[in-house]
Amino acid sequence: MAVLGVMRPERNDMSNCEICGEPMPLGEEMFKFHGYSGNCPKPPLPRDDGAEAVKSIFKRATGVDVSVRVVNGEFYVTDPDGQEFRTGLVRKH
Ligand SMILES: [Zn+2]
Repeated sequence: MAVLGVMRPERNDMSNCEICGEPMPLGEEMFKFHGYSGNCPKPPLPRDDGAEAVKSIFKRATGVDVSVRVVNGEFYVTDPDGQEFRTGLVRKH
């Protein structure tokens, strides 16, 4: 049975590396990220870690532009005066 002969890449099925966002090479689509046959070709993408969402929540609630960073999965917010405080919000993934 020439199983391999009928396999062809389906663009819709292409998975992207979860680290760098590049499409996984043929034959490695079942993996979630590069590393099996080599390292990621690109530096990691800035992940959408939810910081922007937290930022807009604060903007809506207080009208203040804060900066947000994630420490151990928890969001910390710094107000324009440089005061940092814990939000108690935790990253979902
Ligand atoms: Zn990669």
